[in-house]
Amino acid sequence: MSDERAVAVVDADVIVVGGGLSGLVAAHELTARGRKVALVDQESAANLGGQAYWSFGGLFLVDTPEQRRLGVKDSAELAWNDWQGSAQFDRLEDEDSWAVRWARAYVDFAAGEKRSWLDAHGIKFTPMVGWAERGDLRADGHGNSVPRFHVAWGTGTGVVGPFVRSAQRAADEGLLTFHHRHQVDELVIQDGAATGVRGTVLAEDSSPRGVASNRDAAGSFELTAQAVVLAGGGIGANHDLVRAHWPKRLGTAPKNMVTGVPEYVDGRLLQISDAAGVRLVNRDRMWHYTEGIQNWNPVWPGHGIRILPGPSSMWFDALGRRLPDPCLPGYDTLGTLKHLRTTEDIADHDHSWFILTEKIIEKEFALSGSEQNPDLTSGDRKAVLRERILSKGATGPVEAFKNRGADFVVATGLDELVAKMNGLTDRPLLDAASLRGQIEARDLQIANPYSKDSQVQGIRNSRRFLGDRLSRTVAPHRILDPAAGPLIGVKLHVLTRKTLGGIQTDLDSRALGSDGRPIDGLYAVGEAAGFGGGGVHGYNALEGTFLGGCLFSGRNAGRAAADAVA
Ligand SMILES: Cc1cc2nc3c(=O)[nH]c(=O)nc-3n(C[C@H](O)[C@H](O)[C@H](O)COP(=O)(O)OP(=O)(O)OC[C@H]3O[C@@H](n4cnc5c(N)ncnc54)[C@H](O)[C@@H]3O)c2cc1C
Repeated sequence: MSDERAVAVVDADVIVVGGGLSGLVAAHELTARGRKVALVDQESAANLGGQAYWSFGGLFLVDTPEQRRLGVKDSAELAWNDWQGSAQFDRLEDEDSWAVRWARAYVDFAAGEKRSWLDAHGIKFTPMVGWAERGDLRADGHGNSVPRFHVAWGTGTGVVGPFVRSAQRAADEGLLTFHHRHQVDELVIQDGAATGVRGTVLAEDSSPRGVASNRDAAGSFELTAQAVVLAGGGIGANHDLVRAHWPKRLGTAPKNMVTGVPEYVDGRLLQISDAAGVRLVNRDRMWHYTEGIQNWNPVWPGHGIRILPGPSSMWFDALGRRLPDPCLPGYDTLGTLKHLRTTEDIADHDHSWFILTEKIIEKEFALSGSEQNPDLTSGDRKAVLRERILSKGATGPVEAFKNRGADFVVATGLDELVAKMNGLTDRPLLDAASLRGQIEARDLQIANPYSKDSQVQGIRNSRRFLGDRLSRTVAPHRILDPAAGPLIGVKLHVLTRKTLGGIQTDLDSRALGSDGRPIDGLYAVGEAAGFGGGGVHGYNALEGTFLGGCLFSGRNAGRAAADAVA
């Protein structure tokens, strides 16, 4: 192994650290303006595109033709009201000072130029608009008042693809140099200005995309340029870091979680930035899901998949009590996490349960991830129609989880189901009679088109939206009706995913130092920047805002850095 430090004054104007969506968009804006870019990533070329490649490709857009076609009336005003109710910014003088400005700018972008800009880059949308994060049941609280989750053709691969191809073209034209397997260990900041990065050249690794790669050192490197863009992602694969920043308001962190991101989402670049005097804010804000399941066919260590649930499954805690409002499937991610982690007698258990019917799984279960949605990812319109509208069964990947997933049990009767559910925990925690009482009480609420049960009200509300009635919400039925098919129990885990805080940036994506002033030549984008400003989401996300945040912050950084190095 050679350990000679190769100091390269690279033939580039700007170094971009991170080849995920945010770094690629910044690189695209730079090379489109004729600037030379060195794109540095610790992973191999096979991983270009980062997390976005694996993503579901859902994007938050406001007042679009897709929404209007489904009868949805949306507006920038409504979206901004929803954003503020969700974000609950409360550090306005300090950590939220730029975040709130980013939020306003981002909602305007999502209601304005975003769709035409994406279209110009070849990103097209399916007719489906999902209703994610329906909220905490308050008009001025958390949640989307209307469906806004626009799924791109090609899912995540369709969103990141144009920017991967742009980087490859720029490389062919000599405007971009790839530095794969280059792990940045240090930022070089001299006299208040960023001038480069230092790090370890990692040994070659031929693992397929997403598989954990080796960290064997094969040398070291130093690159210098006029500006550096930090696009290193969040902390989701580093459970120690997740636990270290877990906020008291969410109770105790689970002992066991499944991992919703590849291992390279390790949080190291944030620690490195911190050590270099870059200002990190809102680190206690994170976005982890409560509907995680263990992947029967894992790619990365501890690989979990998030269920995107429709509204009909009944949700119970580890001791078999139905969760209270607004802890309903698809309503309030962090409200549910808080309930599960702060309620004393269940916080010792790391799981909760869905109980549902075959009819529900067939229409309402979707799985997040490009590989879990091969029809949408391939862009084959006919396959989508067949799989999602015309077919009677669940999608192939959902069916595979039902049959092979470690967290799924199926039975014809409730007693048998509960016995099987109890078989998935160290000791039996569920009582069949208690569960039966709660399910029968809920089932009695189905006979009329109105009800006192808020979940049943929610199901009926959901079916008034054409998109949900067609493909996401099953007609209300009794859970214990044998005609609804076998019963299904799903053991749910907390799944780590997104980092809502990060490097504080101004609206040009310039990274701030510990004195709150921009560090010359330093930019931060994507998840590393809390998707802009160090926390554009505040405490809660409306979904589809992460890819969008990478696009928006990467775009701002690329344009500003191009001007700065001109
Ligand atoms: C399964 C899944 C589904 C998702 N679905 C959606 C969705 O539908 N809608 C939505 O809005 N969002 C979704 N997301 C979230 C979204 O994909 C991510 O938040 C986003 O892609 C993050 O992009 P990024 O560029 O900030 O970081 P990343 O994609 O994490 O890229 C960071 C890159 O930096 C590199 N890096 C890190 N540290 C170093 C270092 N020290 N030296 C060199 N290189 C380094 C990493 O190797 C990596 O390639 C999903 C995510 C996943 C995993």
